[in-house]
Amino acid sequence: MLGDHGPQTFGSGWFSGLLGLILGLGSFCAVLVFQFPEWLTTTDLRGAYSIDFMRGLLALALVCSFFFSTLNILLRPSKKLGITGITFASLAIILGGAGIEVDYQGDAPIHVGLDWLVLNVVLLSLVFVPLERLFPLRPDQGTFRAGWTTDGLYFIVSHVLVELLTFFTLLPATLVSQAWQAEAIGIQVKALPLLAQVLLIMLIADVTQYWVHRGFHRLRFAWPFHAIHHSTRAMDWLAGSRLHVVDIIVTRALILLPLFVFGFAERALYIWLVIVAAQATFNHVNMRINLGWLEQLIVTPRFHHWHHAVRPIDKNFAVHFPWIDRIFGTFHLPDGKWPDALGIRGDPVPEEFTRQLAWPFRRRG
Ligand SMILES: [Zn+2]
Ligand SMILES: [Zn+2]
Repeated sequence: MLGDHGPQTFGSGWFSGLLGLILGLGSFCAVLVFQFPEWLTTTDLRGAYSIDFMRGLLALALVCSFFFSTLNILLRPSKKLGITGITFASLAIILGGAGIEVDYQGDAPIHVGLDWLVLNVVLLSLVFVPLERLFPLRPDQGTFRAGWTTDGLYFIVSHVLVELLTFFTLLPATLVSQAWQAEAIGIQVKALPLLAQVLLIMLIADVTQYWVHRGFHRLRFAWPFHAIHHSTRAMDWLAGSRLHVVDIIVTRALILLPLFVFGFAERALYIWLVIVAAQATFNHVNMRINLGWLEQLIVTPRFHHWHHAVRPIDKNFAVHFPWIDRIFGTFHLPDGKWPDALGIRGDPVPEEFTRQLAWPFRRRG
């Protein structure tokens, strides 16, 4: 697959190969999820989709995988993507395909969020891979750019271990909100309309995130953990996944703390979770998009790319609203310009996933 270095333009068979591969691999993983639901599904997600709907989706993915893989084989001299796609789609069918019986045997002691991973890989890559090729900011970068395997591993680990991460992230907020209920301080945010609650959550979350994020940049012992995120020299939809586990847990736990204390409705919190996940991904994409006056109102890729610039440093900390940086004096968005170089000066962070996991602890001593 990685040896397929031919042209990546429309009509070259590259997109169809990639689509065939993603859908084939996705179908294969989906069949595994159906086979072992007690081990491979996320508790929160289980109630969110119906088995019949997923079975229909799987059948569609299998048909599309065969179609696009065949197209790749017909169009492209290198058939690697298409053949790999067909192999995984065939394995998925041998293992039961879309007609597979789901025999749920109660809860296993630990869950791996393979369903969460498959849904996100398929959805995000189907949206962003074509968009990044159609409107590239750095056209030479390619989809399989330097460091993509490291970022891919971050993506996989954070999705598969989603329940474990959520547990640690929620722990401080649940403890504090039990001790100090919102009703007791007379705040009635639950009574507000849903949209108002979501906007208020975005505001409170982003102000908290701003200061936690700035703290990670400012405090000597904290910076190495966040430096991992800044170590990437290539931005795309996958680059935002590069986050040290300590960075993820500390940042998310502190953001959730005020949200739980205020006692927002669960639905509003879920809507915000989708927004923040989508925006955090979008802010990193390798796409040349200038949104004019809107860039002053909401965070866009150009704003966040400047946060990753080698120079100037310590600018643009917000995730939702750039004017928070304006208020606190860290706003940097020169007209229509994008940063030349991304990453950290001197490249102090090692390249590989496990070495990055250990690096901040070694640096502290
Ligand atoms: Zn940062
Ligand atoms: Zn970032």
